[in-house]
Amino acid sequence: MNPRMVYSAHGAAKQVTGSCHLVTCGDTRILVDCGLFQGGNHHDLNFDPFGFDPASIDVLLLTHAHLDHCGRIPRLVRQGFRGRILATAATRDLARIVLLDAAGLQEEDAARAERSGQRRGEQGNGPLFTLDDAFYSLDYFDKPVAYGQTIPVAPGVTAQFLDAGHILGSASILLTLEDRGQTRTILFSGDIGNPHRPILRDPTPAPAADYVVMDTTYGNRPHRSLPDSVDELYRAIRETFARGGNVVIPSFALERAQEILYYLHRGAVEGQLPQNMHVFLDSPMAISATDTFRRHPECFDKTFLAQLREGDPFAAPGLRFTRDTAQSMAINRIEGGAVILAGSGMCTGGRVRHHLKHNLWRERSSVVFVGYAAEGTLARRIVDGARAVRIFGEDIQVRAQIWTINGFSAHADQDGLLHWLGDAPRRKVFLVHGEYERGMAAMTEQLTRKGIPSQVPGMHEPILPA
Ligand SMILES: [Zn+2]
Repeated sequence: MNPRMVYSAHGAAKQVTGSCHLVTCGDTRILVDCGLFQGGNHHDLNFDPFGFDPASIDVLLLTHAHLDHCGRIPRLVRQGFRGRILATAATRDLARIVLLDAAGLQEEDAARAERSGQRRGEQGNGPLFTLDDAFYSLDYFDKPVAYGQTIPVAPGVTAQFLDAGHILGSASILLTLEDRGQTRTILFSGDIGNPHRPILRDPTPAPAADYVVMDTTYGNRPHRSLPDSVDELYRAIRETFARGGNVVIPSFALERAQEILYYLHRGAVEGQLPQNMHVFLDSPMAISATDTFRRHPECFDKTFLAQLREGDPFAAPGLRFTRDTAQSMAINRIEGGAVILAGSGMCTGGRVRHHLKHNLWRERSSVVFVGYAAEGTLARRIVDGARAVRIFGEDIQVRAQIWTINGFSAHADQDGLLHWLGDAPRRKVFLVHGEYERGMAAMTEQLTRKGIPSQVPGMHEPILPA
């Protein structure tokens, strides 16, 4: 045992969000991810101290651009971080969009809380970080990292980014640590994607590593198959159009929105969807993310690259990008035949709430959920069968048909995670980023059955690898 090599989780410990992992090797301190805590009562955790001194961190390695992996970066910089941030080119571009959007929301939330006299977290009423903090933090992103290359990141430490197949630019990160003649490897899975999806390559299987820090978002349940889910989406749209209604799809701006656009295009090409439909991508962030996708062909799989050569695989019939509020509001006048993609995916904010207000009470319309709906969110209440929900202070009856299609997940399910991990011997697997009672418990059981030692780290708990 080398007491100078320490691992500790400062987020996503017995919970799903807030990924933030610290690795100490001798005098070097490396952070992997610096994500936001999300969802109802977790939000206040963002105002807590990090559990380490941000100024002491040499390098931050970022697995991908989802907010629960990068959303505390501006705060880290504000509290003294002056190191380098290493990420793939696509992650860097997407993180820019994600952080600036989040900063705008933080400022709005803080202003609203101040007006209502509500206190938020230990620090009072200020935003978690401002737009200025977000811009400033972007300066710390270093040259982009290519998949597969081994790069020196600090004295005694190299890193290799491997394609995680989760969202554009996503990576698992393999760290090799050397101190006083001892070498150890530790692999951070990041979020692992689902294989056989369009656009992205399948996740690179986990390489040999002494330790694995593994995400367990869906560690307890299998997904529905993707082809079945696509068929169900097409059926939802056809049936809704036949009734004369609209289809509202609350959608995450990264990856899911682009995937759905891809399937709408393909459905029209294959004759599964009508050519005369209207499709609205009503999310400035998703529109920017779609542009970013087009700039990163290095992340695409072979099939998608071939499809790109034949035309625009995102261009569904009647597709319109509505950046302006006025364009967005004009969608409310359409009574039927439209597919409306808008954020946020869990309906906690964003333009989708307007579209829900205009369509939820209409029997002819449908709302199609294609992503994860965390507990306590508006999406979850609707998915769970609420008869009425409150939107903008109004009680809205739920009469639209509600569809929940879970096969589009960007997360590997239990089988996918076990397949990714493979059978190579491991000294220990640390389970993070999951629901403690469900995903983590189920995965612990699976690993025990396979004879792989595992541990669920507690928040800020220093772990000395054996
Ligand atoms: Zn993710």
